Amino acid sequence: MKEYHTIETEVRLPYQLAYGATWTRFFEGLKEEKIYGTRCEQCNRVLVPARTFCPRCFVDTTQWVEVSQEGVLRAYVLTNYSYFAQPLKPPFITGLIRLDGTDVNFMHLVGGFKMDSLEAVQAKVQNGMRVKAVWAKNKTGNILDIRHFKPL
Ligand SMILES: [Zn+2]
Repeated sequence: MKEYHTIETEVRLPYQLAYGATWTRFFEGLKEEKIYGTRCEQCNRVLVPARTFCPRCFVDTTQWVEVSQEGVLRAYVLTNYSYFAQPLKPPFITGLIRLDGTDVNFMHLVGGFKMDSLEAVQAKVQNGMRVKAVWAKNKTGNILDIRHFKPL
């Protein structure tokens, strides 16, 4: 069997992404501690974060709704190791949250408690529990203007 030499390297791809009208309005809302979604006029689902079109019906969404800051944790994952380009230092929990009155899961962090062991996390976090948005003090129009969702 032939052996190949390898080198370890890192690929970096810095870029800027234009938010566009829908994401701009969504992120501007976060600055005011409001979470906005859009309603599909065909299937009536409320999509959050706000979307330009309904991915099920393929029609433009034109109706804006401010959604609840509370909801139900549908699923979560605990990240306790570091890897390239993480926005946060582990440990952290990423959750799929169904905000009240919406019809899709909103992915965000779950936190506000100690995560120093899996047992500590399992004692605090369960699928189906109610959570509420906790806002950052300084908001910049970024998804992390919501610091995390805390258990209620
Ligand atoms: Zn639809």
